[in-house]
Amino acid sequence: MNLHKLIFTENACYKAGRKITVKGIMVHSTGANNPWLKRYVGPDDGLLGKNQYNNHWNTHHPGGREVCVHGFIGKLADGTIATYQTLPWDHRGWHAGGSANNTHIGFEICEDGLADATYFSKVYKEAVELCVYLCKLYGLTEQNIICHSEGYRKGVASNHGDVMHWFPKHGKSMDTFRADVKLLLNAPVEKEEPKTEQKEETTEYPAKLTAGYYRVRKEWKDSKSQIGAYRVLANAKAAADKNPGTFVFSNDGVAIYPTQEKKEEIFRIHTVVKGDTLWDIAAKYLGNGARYPEIKTLNELKSNTIYSGWKLKIPN
Ligand SMILES: [Zn+2]
Repeated sequence: MNLHKLIFTENACYKAGRKITVKGIMVHSTGANNPWLKRYVGPDDGLLGKNQYNNHWNTHHPGGREVCVHGFIGKLADGTIATYQTLPWDHRGWHAGGSANNTHIGFEICEDGLADATYFSKVYKEAVELCVYLCKLYGLTEQNIICHSEGYRKGVASNHGDVMHWFPKHGKSMDTFRADVKLLLNAPVEKEEPKTEQKEETTEYPAKLTAGYYRVRKEWKDSKSQIGAYRVLANAKAAADKNPGTFVFSNDGVAIYPTQEKKEEIFRIHTVVKGDTLWDIAAKYLGNGARYPEIKTLNELKSNTIYSGWKLKIPN
């Protein structure tokens, strides 16, 4: 989760200053084709980008309405996905149009055109992670999570269809959502897993579980170099990626990641300084300025303009 905070202190809801005992979470989506957080969250903090209409919700009555939620999930100016907390979590929000305002944290997922599977999967994951975070904070479980339309059926929210007009388009539902929250809630906390061989083999762990660890180390024999032991391969790979020179070892000591292929992808890095051009950098590292398009491609540059401080990968 990429969590940021920008409390809507100008919103009348914030100013009303009422607190709730949090008993649940209500998932909303905005109902408008605008995935950019800056549409709703402002003013610009340097990440959101500027809302040229200044019609974000950090105002007394956004669009003349009494409306305010605890958070938004959507795109930052650079296109990455983030969560913004916009009210203290235990503040009484104005999101449900019903009694759920007295009990539920409400957050909005910014909708796009509803057809983009990549955007959907990213915001869905972000929403799952936000709910896991909030469940831990308030001792809730996945059973305490509903969406707006479910709230309507329970008689605690107004008649809106979100999020069930969207999730099923991508093979998801509130049931899959709750199941995904549950999975993550019950997952072991990776960072707290034992790092030393000694602790790992302690009998507190059933043999079945210890058998399933992916260990991230420099060498199998060098247990002191261990970064961590993970039950989920993807997490072990991520740890190996973050720690160059380490590998993921299966339980029997075989290095399974990075593979040879991956190792070849270790690049030299050039930090751009004032006056650098792509041509010069290509000439310096590749021996031929005309090879600069290779640097552009590798770094996914859209133009030939580069800026001081950028770290460019150099093709091998
Ligand atoms: Zn809603």
